[in-house]
Amino acid sequence: MTLYKEKSFLHLQKRNSYLQSRENLPCSNNSGASFRGSSDQEPWVTSFASQSDRGNMQDFEYDMLVIGSGPAGHHAAIQAAKLGKKVAVAERKAVVGGACINLGTIPSKTLREAVLYLSGYREHDLYGDSYTVKQNITKEDLLFRAQHVIGHEIDVARHQLQRNRVELINAEASFVDPHTVRLDLIDEQGSRDVTAEHIVIAVGAAATKDPHIPFDGHRVITSDEILTLDQLPRSLAVVGAGVVGCEYASIFATLGIRVTLIDMRPRLLPFVDGEIVDTLSYHMRNNGVTLWLNEKVQGIEPYDNDHGGGVTLHLESGKKIVSEKALYSIGRTGATERLNLAAAGLSADDRGRLKVNEHYQTDAPHIYAAGDVIGFPSLASISMEQGRLAACHAFGVEAASVQELFPYGIYTIPEISMVGRTEEALTEQGVPYEVGKAQYKETARGQIIGDVTGLLKLVFHIETRALLGVHIIGEGASDLVHIGQAVLAFGGKVDYFVNTVFNYPTLAECYKNAAFDGINRLRM
Ligand SMILES: Cc1cc2nc3c(=O)[nH]c(=O)nc-3n(C[C@H](O)[C@H](O)[C@H](O)COP(=O)(O)OP(=O)(O)OC[C@H]3O[C@@H](n4cnc5c(N)ncnc54)[C@H](O)[C@@H]3O)c2cc1C
Repeated sequence: MTLYKEKSFLHLQKRNSYLQSRENLPCSNNSGASFRGSSDQEPWVTSFASQSDRGNMQDFEYDMLVIGSGPAGHHAAIQAAKLGKKVAVAERKAVVGGACINLGTIPSKTLREAVLYLSGYREHDLYGDSYTVKQNITKEDLLFRAQHVIGHEIDVARHQLQRNRVELINAEASFVDPHTVRLDLIDEQGSRDVTAEHIVIAVGAAATKDPHIPFDGHRVITSDEILTLDQLPRSLAVVGAGVVGCEYASIFATLGIRVTLIDMRPRLLPFVDGEIVDTLSYHMRNNGVTLWLNEKVQGIEPYDNDHGGGVTLHLESGKKIVSEKALYSIGRTGATERLNLAAAGLSADDRGRLKVNEHYQTDAPHIYAAGDVIGFPSLASISMEQGRLAACHAFGVEAASVQELFPYGIYTIPEISMVGRTEEALTEQGVPYEVGKAQYKETARGQIIGDVTGLLKLVFHIETRALLGVHIIGEGASDLVHIGQAVLAFGGKVDYFVNTVFNYPTLAECYKNAAFDGINRLRM
């Protein structure tokens, strides 16, 4: 007891001197220098810090401790710091940014861009399939671009934490009790226990590894190991046609690699509009991907031969697929295993995920969880928002969110994006709807950029004409979708697109064309 009091007193002393030093700063939301043209103030956080907030004395070393520096943790920490709170982030990897910057989102999107550029894919409609920027594209060609972008993004994230006075502790965190976390320091020896009034668990997830699959990081890999591939394979079997599986299948196929994509479900990406998925399947096949749907992989067997060997995939149906490498992509498991959750009175489900309420509070109200560790939808875009909202709630700041309207960006080739409801969902819900479609090829912009297969589809209520969903496949889909998202968020009607002037020539004109198409169908 005495020991605890002494420790608390030390925390208070440390905290007081910290607060004094903070309050000498000109303004917490403008602290630090601007960085490479970015604004001083992160636009995605609610920013203010009143003196009374800072004076809220508690018996804890930190107002908030965030575990994990991916998008969820990063945004939670900076939001809390903007509110004038004393914040620390514990990160067990040597670099910040989590799976998003280091293994998943940023690497995959940069590899995709490198592949599209070097293969000349975007120009094939204009100059023919033989057009390339570089023949014999190597792993090094792709890594060159990926490493450049990853390095830059790590630097930006680290600097944002620094200039907001968020303490970054390079350590693996685990609970000692509901307010105390043990930090096993990575660079230095030893550990340190810290206390925090609020804790955000933002530990993310790792690729799920089936125990009976012989992962070796070389022939049988997960998406977390893509960047460490020794060389580009001549053939690749991708197990799992979720977002990550479909993205990598189309990226590797565009390089001319023989790709086989296997999934036990009857179609790719079940949550995406059926017509869009059909279009994607067509493009993937056209690009050399062999699709095996309704097929379950029973086992993967590596073999050696004079050409370096490969793997044989055994399907439950008795079929066999031979490939140089296999990418196993059946989902991700929350990284909660080493958190000692029981010490905080928490437990995870069988996929390592934590249950939270609408404020991202776990069963212990002062402990929040955000990002991939809470499961669906497991997107960097949403994780950031969840982290921010968790911090706002912890410190009693109201924050509005339009999360039910979150968009999906799926970076297959071609790209897909959607917001709102699909035709399938509306049919199931018994909502009467009409559809308006526009093809990129009908716009001058589509012709200019050489994307003549893109499609934009609006779904709207047949009586009220309220917009219900936007579904796009083609170049720039994930940017274009935000026009529709804004109209949806404000409860707009399909007529909005008819009555709006769009820049010319743009792909955005597809909104107008699709609206005309849909409204004309009502009159037929
Ligand atoms: C191949 C791929 C492509 C993707 N593409 C997209 C995309 O295009 N768009 C999109 O929005 N999303 C995409 N995602 C999803 C996105 O990467 C995740 O949703 C996002 O990274 C989740 O953020 P997070 O903060 O929850 O976790 P993470 O980014 O995983 O960060 C968690 C961090 O916590 C740290 N950590 C874990 N345990 C501890 C501990 N005990 N102590 C200290 N630190 C710990 C980890 O080291 C890690 O740095 C993609 C994912 C993959 C795999």
